[in-house]
Amino acid sequence: MGDAIKLHALLGGTFEPIHYGHLQPAEALAAKVGLQKVTLMPNNVPPHRPQPEATPAQRVEMVRLAIAGNPLFELDMREMQRSTPSYTLETLEELRAERGPRQPLAFIIGQDSLLTIHKWHRWQELLSFCHLLVCQRPGYRSEMETPELQRWRDEHLTRDALLLQQTPAGKVFLAETPLVDISATEIRTRRHQDKSSSDLLPPAVSDYIDREGLYRNPLPRDMLRR
Ligand code: ATP
Repeated sequence: MGDAIKLHALLGGTFEPIHYGHLQPAEALAAKVGLQKVTLMPNNVPPHRPQPEATPAQRVEMVRLAIAGNPLFELDMREMQRSTPSYTLETLEELRAERGPRQPLAFIIGQDSLLTIHKWHRWQELLSFCHLLVCQRPGYRSEMETPELQRWRDEHLTRDALLLQQTPAGKVFLAETPLVDISATEIRTRRHQDKSSSDLLPPAVSDYIDREGLYRNPLPRDMLRR
């Protein structure tokens, strides 16, 4: 199989900060599906959520530190370089135009994101551009919110990893990845409460957060004690 038609998988996120819940399921998925690269794509202006506390440059640096020395992962800056909101569909349109109609493309998401996929910009077009590779995430139900969404998911469902390599787009693959009970919110909350979070993310990222003083309690300590 030539390079041009290997399945290209992207993992987009705010990465505020990147943690083992992003990295470990993606590594397990790569082994199952035969991914040679997972492209991490930090987004610049996440449309669905409050603006991040860390600057874009800090979030990128944390991704860089997390993947240093791991040849599975690479960093893609295209969403960071845009000043408009990061809509996955627009990124996929751009990639599809670059790679041509036959290149298998996949977007990796967690089960929580699958459950809210209908809130994504032009979500119904997503599967014309890519496959969705879904990693399990503890605490999120396996059924979709409505019968229509469940039907949409089931119509596109495949258990055949080979099909992901053989077709350019259109499948939903539910991967049996390890359950990693970590969220970026929990890491930020622990930091704000002055608790350690170093078991949840790579040491280099944890050290960077300490050095940069990220996610510190916004109120001075003496005010909190009053
Ligand atoms: P936050 O807590 O700030 O909302 P997050 O931990 O969910 O952040 P994101 O950067 O928003 O992280 O997530 C990027 C992608 O990674 C999403 O598709 C999300 O579903 C997935 N993901 C994040 N954490 C996990 C996890 N623990 N297990 C599986 N998938 C995850």
